Amino acid sequence: MIRHDVRRRCAAAGNGGTPPGGHRYRGTVRRLLPYALRFFRRHKGALIGLAAWSLLESVQTFLVGFAVAWSLDRGFLAGRPAEGLAWLAVAAASVLLAGPVLRGVFRRLSGLVEPFRDGLVRRAADQALGRAVADPARAAEAERAAVSRLTRQTEIARDGFAGLVLTVRSFAFTAVGAVAGMAALAPELLPVVLPPMALGLLLFLLTLLPMAAAQRRYLDADEAFTDRSAALRTGLRDLVACGTTGTAGSGLHGLAAEAEAAGRSLARWTAVRTLALGAAGQLPVVALLAAVPWLLDRGVSAGALMGALTYLVQSLLPALRTMMTAVAAAGSRLVVVLERFVPPEGQEPDAPAPQGAGGQEDAAPVPADGGAPPAVLCRDLRVSYGAGTPPLLEGFDLAVAAGEHVAVVGPSGIGKSTLAHVLTGLHSPDHGDVLLSGAPVRGRASPPMARARVLLPQEGYVFAGTVRENLAQLAPEAGDGRISEAVAALRLGPLVERLGGLEADVDPAALSAGERQLLCLGRAHASPAPLLILDEATCHLDPDTEAHAEEALARREGTTLLVIAHRLSSALRADRIVVLDGTSTAVGTHRELLRTSPLYRDLAGYWEAPG
Ligand code: ADP
Repeated sequence: MIRHDVRRRCAAAGNGGTPPGGHRYRGTVRRLLPYALRFFRRHKGALIGLAAWSLLESVQTFLVGFAVAWSLDRGFLAGRPAEGLAWLAVAAASVLLAGPVLRGVFRRLSGLVEPFRDGLVRRAADQALGRAVADPARAAEAERAAVSRLTRQTEIARDGFAGLVLTVRSFAFTAVGAVAGMAALAPELLPVVLPPMALGLLLFLLTLLPMAAAQRRYLDADEAFTDRSAALRTGLRDLVACGTTGTAGSGLHGLAAEAEAAGRSLARWTAVRTLALGAAGQLPVVALLAAVPWLLDRGVSAGALMGALTYLVQSLLPALRTMMTAVAAAGSRLVVVLERFVPPEGQEPDAPAPQGAGGQEDAAPVPADGGAPPAVLCRDLRVSYGAGTPPLLEGFDLAVAAGEHVAVVGPSGIGKSTLAHVLTGLHSPDHGDVLLSGAPVRGRASPPMARARVLLPQEGYVFAGTVRENLAQLAPEAGDGRISEAVAALRLGPLVERLGGLEADVDPAALSAGERQLLCLGRAHASPAPLLILDEATCHLDPDTEAHAEEALARREGTTLLVIAHRLSSALRADRIVVLDGTSTAVGTHRELLRTSPLYRDLAGYWEAPG
């Protein structure tokens, strides 16, 4: 018997489908612009450092051409070969300067590129989680797209971004040095050299839009082909059973033909671009040579002509060519790939909203009695890891009041972390509801969820970036006040100082597990979320530091704290304790539970036992 879902799969797999249509490239750039501006604003420090090193590149460019010009005018042509040689030595020294300058540039570049990559990875993970939670039935599909985003597409974007920053910056600063040099030698050189270069650049820019469209078409076709073949693979048995393999195969052929056509169109535009590259790269030299008589008539010296030629051949044109090649190879691909990381047009960009200014989705229904809704409300939860597996929670109810401090205890493997995942929307219950401050968790997008709760797992994730970026990860708009408050509350001062201050770069591998946990606790403190859930997030801290951290978080204004406890002391600090026992749940204070819960008595006895 062919079931309904089998029919549906046959139909889906057999339908050839068309690749997603192309949106307008211009629209995409407009959509990406606010994200780009926000990113650069947030990494002003790295940008300034990069610009400072790049300015040395301008100086180096300036010196090379200038020294060549003076070696002729003041040295060899003036009958002073020693002075000529000395100026040539200056030019050689300037060339050698390029090594250390590039080293400095690369070091600063990582301060931009690594946070960029981390941001994309975070975004891809958020998107996948959001989609999986909103629609668990399509979780596998979301996972496939996320794998591609987390790996191939993130790396394409990272490499493209690094290449663009490096080459655009190099061209801009080389141009400053070369134009300043030519203006200093003889301003008449500029109207000869700059217009043909600008012409080539313009021609090149004109190819950007059509080329990006072709690139997007190619990527869409590639993704559609991957999706279709995955669908075919899963439905192969059913396709054979339904006898629709022929239709399914022709769908794939159509997608392959589309990818081929997109490849051809890309090749055509590449030819036009090569022409532009040639024009920008060679025309200025030709123009300079052709204008030599005119320039000589105007009193431009032979040294200045040679200096201008040096600027063109040695610095400006190679930088222009490298930049154009990088933009051609990576620019449009970067835009097309980045588009996949931002919400579709018309949907709110996920900028963190100011605290308490949530949208409709965040609005918590006011309870009938007019009081504040509970910070956490679980109603009749049934939680398992798939059909046919025994439930970890069954008929589970819990209400945690706003501002309460609750500990969750139970034997290992009983489902404590699973409960944390259900409360935070990372795992969907089979049955029942979870409401945070009155708003249901199910189907809620990840940006509002991120403002509602923070889950700190056992392993603190610290990323390569500055200390401040790590602390402000969940509150990108947090000002100095909020960060300093978190540092003071959790006594992170000595650690931050040892790392070199808030602006110092962190090497995650150089931190101990406890130090990573401390930074993550600081991050949770700085976040705007009112609900903090610690899933053994203090297990690498000594008992005193753990006690202080938990108390500091519990004291944070408007905080509801839920701690999965791994020590009796941690449970004792809570207002109430939830004991998970598989089949049943007990809730109460330490004293009550010692009386009423044999499991809690056992756990307390085990924790208290010496050794
Ligand atoms: P605890 O935090 O109490 O130690 P967990 O919530 O981590 O327990 O796990 C509860 C049970 O669920 C364990 O038996 C564990 O193996 C199982 N489990 C946890 N995560 C998954 C998963 N993603 N898929 C299937 N089973 C899981």
